[in-house]
Formats: sequence, C-alpha cells, structure tokens
Amino acid sequence: MHTLRSPRISGARTSCPTLTMEELSEITQHLLRFSPDALIVVDDSNRIRFANETVRDVFGHDPQALLGASLELLIPERFRPHHGGHTAAFMTSPKKREMGARIADLFALRADGTEFAAGIRLAPFRVGGKLFVAAAIRDTTERMQVNEELLQARKEADRANRAKSRFLATASHDLRQPLQTVRLLNAAMSKIVPDAQTHELLTRQGQAIESMTRLLNALLDISRLESGAIEPTAGSVSVDAVFAELRNEFESVAAARNVDLIFRPARIVLSTDRTLFYQLLQNLIGNALKYTDRGWVRVSCTLDTDSIVVLVEDSGIGIPADKLERIFDEYYQVDTHGTKRMGVGLGLAIVKEVARLLGFSVRIRSTVGEGTQATITIPLHCRLAAEENRSAAPVAKSTTPVPRRGRLILVEDNEGVRVATALFLKLEGYEILTAGSLAEAEVVLEQLREGDIVIADYHLDDRNTGLDMLLSLRKRRGFDVPGVILSGDLPSVRRSIKTPVPRSHFLSKPVDTTALLEAIQDLAGTLP
Ligand code: ADP
Repeated sequence: MHTLRSPRISGARTSCPTLTMEELSEITQHLLRFSPDALIVVDDSNRIRFANETVRDVFGHDPQALLGASLELLIPERFRPHHGGHTAAFMTSPKKREMGARIADLFALRADGTEFAAGIRLAPFRVGGKLFVAAAIRDTTERMQVNEELLQARKEADRANRAKSRFLATASHDLRQPLQTVRLLNAAMSKIVPDAQTHELLTRQGQAIESMTRLLNALLDISRLESGAIEPTAGSVSVDAVFAELRNEFESVAAARNVDLIFRPARIVLSTDRTLFYQLLQNLIGNALKYTDRGWVRVSCTLDTDSIVVLVEDSGIGIPADKLERIFDEYYQVDTHGTKRMGVGLGLAIVKEVARLLGFSVRIRSTVGEGTQATITIPLHCRLAAEENRSAAPVAKSTTPVPRRGRLILVEDNEGVRVATALFLKLEGYEILTAGSLAEAEVVLEQLREGDIVIADYHLDDRNTGLDMLLSLRKRRGFDVPGVILSGDLPSVRRSIKTPVPRSHFLSKPVDTTALLEAIQDLAGTLP
C-alpha cells in the first residue's frame, strides 16, 4: 500500500496515557487499510494515488495495481463522457460533499466488468500546494434495494388506503338508499300499528336504524375527508349565524336530555369554509350533549391576543387522563359506564381532519366527573373586519311551524325510497303526487298549483339535479315554488350553491323523518 504521508495528531488529553507517534501511525495505517469504505485518493489529473485494501472487496481490483491508473477505470463507460466535466468543475471549487447529491443513481465499475450502485463521499485536501481528492466509496446496492422496497411498500399502502376510502365512500353511499327506505317504512308503520307491543318493537327498530344512520354518515364523512376529496372554500362566516343553526339542530336533543344548551353571542365573522366549520362544531357539540347527563353545554367564540378561540364546554362525565391521548384516533372509544354504545368512535377523528383542513388546532381537556372543554384555536388572520361582513346575513331561525296540510310533489328515482316516502307522508295526512324520473316529473309538475311543495332528490340523472329542476320550474311559473332537496352528499351540494335559494330546505339522506316534516311545515308556513 502506498501512503502520502504519516498523519500528525496532537493535543491528546493529559489524563490518558499518550500514544507514541509510532502507535498512532500504526492505528491510522490500520484504519486506512481496512476502513468499511473503499478509499481512493486522486490527484488533480484524475490519477489514482492511493487505494486501500477495501478497494479489493468493493471493486475486485488489486489496490497496488490501481496506483497511477486513471480514475475512469472505476467508472462505467456510459458515465465517462460526463465524468470529465464533473471532475473539472469539482477541482475548480472543491468542497466536501456527497458525490452527485442531486443524482439519484451513481454506479461504479468492478474489475470483472459488472456495475454496482455506489455511495461516494469526496473530501479535497492539499499537500505541499498540490490538490488531492479523497473518495470514500461504498456499495449501496442493498440499501437501494431496501429503499426501493420501502418505496414500493409505501405506494402499496397509499393505494390500499385510497381503495379503502373509495370502498367506504361507495358502500356507505349505496347503503343510504335502502336505509332511507327502511327508516321511512319504520316511521310509517309506527303511525298505523294499533297495539302497544308492536309499537314498542318498532321504536326499538327505529333506534337501531338511527345508530346505523349515524355510523353510515360518519363513515362517509371520514372517507371523504381522508380521500382528499374535500377542499375548503373560504367565505365570510358569521359565527353567530352558525351558532343559531347549531342551536336549531341541537335544542331538541338538549331538551330531551334535560341539559342547558348555551350559545354565547360572539359578534365575530370568520373567513373560512362554512360547511366544514359547522361540521367541526356539530361533532364537538354532539359529543358534549352525548356525554352530559345533567348540567350544561356551553359554546362560545372570543378574541384572544393572537388567535380566535372557540370553546365547547360541558359539565358531563369527563374523560380519564390516560385516555385523552387516544380519543382522536379512528374508532377509539372510551368505555365509561357503558357510554361506548352511544357513538361509533369517528366523531373526534372527523374533528381532527376538518381542523387540519381549515388550519385550526383542537385541544381537549377533561376532568372525570366534572366535564370536558374542547378548545379550537383559529389563526387571527381568519377574522374578517365588520365591513367585510355585509354579505353575511344571519341565518334566520326557522319560523314556528304553522300546521297546515299542503299538497306535495315527490320526485325520486329510487323506487324503494319513493314508495316509502310517499307512504310515510300520506300517513302524515298529506296529499302526494309522485314522479320516478325527470321525464315523469315534467308531466306531473304540469298539475302544480300554488301552495304545492316540491320534494326532490338532488341526484336525479347524470346531467340534471333536482335543484336545476326546481329552479327552472320557478322560472316557468314566475314565483318561488317551495322545495325540499334531499341529498346523500349535502356538504358538496351546499358548497356548489353559489347564491342562496329562497323558500327551500336542503336535507341529508337518509332523511330524518322529523326534519322532513319540519321542513314541509316551515315551507307551508311561508306560503304566500
Ligand atoms: P364517539 O362516537 O364514541 O363519541 P368520538 O371520536 O367522537 O367517538 O369520541 C371518542 C371518545 O371520546 C368517546 O367514545 C368518548 O368516550 C370520549 N369523548 C368525546 N367527547 C367527550 C365529551 N365531551 N365528554 C366525555 N367524553 C367524551
């Protein structure tokens, strides 16, 4: 082996016995000879001036035989033309670096003509004014293979995850129609069965249908969020208007549980996605009410020095400290005194995803037996000044239902849902006309008279929606025919509506029968 010069090492610590120069030199020689990397030193004309023993293992060359040879001997022929340029550039501004840091695959040539993937580190140095470059070379074939396998595994996992989300979205969407049918039939039967025992059975069946509906809705929400299908669209959002809508949704639940539901006036307007913001609070308030047997649930939104803080607090059962860490995981539920049955374990996973999409952060603090506080922190730049809020008219609380029976025209292409809805509404005392397609609707709507209410599925066929149908009907008739639009994907429908649609209600499928009746009564009450 050929060396340039014995290294000089000074400054050994006084507490250790000092090595003699001979010992140091021997250690250095040993390290150089058998370092795990092949070590090569070239001069400024690319001649090999030093090669250690490891070169024999890595390249299959006798290190001695390489001295004086051109470095190109170790480079596959196809890379040689470029190599000259790279070397010249490196020699003019030599720096310590990993060779070809931006090149994904570097290859070196063995003595037997085979190639291998190589990781190469370069270190320039000068001896007596002359420039040399030391190269530490290792065979990275195995590492590259492992990387490649990891990459493939990652791609496979991503693909499987997307497939899972697609499957969940499709399955839960397709399950909605039959579930809708069962739900309506249950409600219809509850109306007509005379005996208490059957009534009791139907009530239990109704409860099972409700929990199935909740599960489907949550599955659909999380799969949509995870598949990246939802992009937030920022608009001007009055927090008080959102609170008013949430109060509408939850006040009957709160009353049934004997819990005070308090919304503190906020007078804050945000620039955010209204539907997602609503969904975030809906899940947190739903939880607060679910896990509170007595006392209160309080919702507020206030300005802090560097953020806007929304609090959803309750005086409920609380969450044990050792469980707090996991509550945002999908399907994780804390089993406290049988409360597990009350949900499906997706609410907070949805909250986490929605908050991430909106750029908010959510934290939950809790004390068992005292209550839980969910804190949403919103960046201050999401706050709109009052003058930017002219368009954000508060959502009116639905008018007190005026019990009045009008005639209904139902346009629904799914036969099961159509028959069940019609049956249910008939039993509620409504006169009802039905259409199973747009073409049929055209004929039936000829009979429309003032006072009739249209109930239509949003997804009627590939080109037209129930909303398009309602809007063109309004144009033809010259007045705002009242309408209820039902959709399995309400958030997307809401997002696609650019201007508010007066005298209408948008309801989620599978439809909540009480919500449907309330919407009809509300529209009947607003009839001219
Ligand atoms: P679930 O559908 O079970 O409510 P979530 O993901 O919404 O699922 O919540 C996960 C768990 O966190 C729940 O099972 C519940 O035990 C606990 N939890 C969430 N919110 C509250 C709350 N406000 N009070 C008490 N426990 C809560």
